[in-house]
Amino acid sequence: MNFIRPVFNYLNDFFALFYPQLCASCNTNLYNNETVICTSCRYRLPYTQFHSDPDNRTARQLAGRFPFEAAASFLYFHKGSRVQNLIHQLKYNSNTDVGTTLGEMYGQVLRSAEKFSTADIIVPVPLHPAKLKKRGYNQSEYFARGLASAMEISHANALMRLVNTQSQTRKSRYVRYENMKDIFSVRSPDILENKHVLLVDDVLTSGATVEACALKILEITGTRISIATIAFTD
Ligand SMILES: [Zn+2]
Repeated sequence: MNFIRPVFNYLNDFFALFYPQLCASCNTNLYNNETVICTSCRYRLPYTQFHSDPDNRTARQLAGRFPFEAAASFLYFHKGSRVQNLIHQLKYNSNTDVGTTLGEMYGQVLRSAEKFSTADIIVPVPLHPAKLKKRGYNQSEYFARGLASAMEISHANALMRLVNTQSQTRKSRYVRYENMKDIFSVRSPDILENKHVLLVDDVLTSGATVEACALKILEITGTRISIATIAFTD
């Protein structure tokens, strides 16, 4: 039966050549000159334009919880929308190209946005090692990579997640919230010292995770923080 594998490989190659690639946002066939997200979606995605408004909804969500230079989200997230498809592809379908692509798109915007343009290094919100093992990748790291490439600055997995919050029971939630900051630790404080750190995550909801990470980073000498997320949800 060992002829099966070569035949299977052959068929795989054959379909990779001729089977159309689909847009991660609207699921239609991509043309040869399109990658990951089709041209139509790139025009129609619900861009927030938060980067040009210091008093935007992401900034207001985080205001007063920790000091920051700037905060913004790239897209509005609504259930059943193209943005939900993108996030689903990125988080649950191993489509890491979605993260890199959105990072590159947003990086082109942020590199010329006044406050964001002074960022020195990009740091993604980390996953707990158990979750990382299960998923196989950190979706926010791919967003960070795309941003870093377009903004021509470095990125680093400088944070560690010590507690897997989702595996905790309901009973421990109150205690957990009190010590939210201690869920994270800084892996390499030296590379963040005196830097303007752009902390990035996928979807901003309560902002508790971003806040906890930011407070840890701000314990390091001379650090300043800005925040960028792929999507904002009410
Ligand atoms: Zn599309």
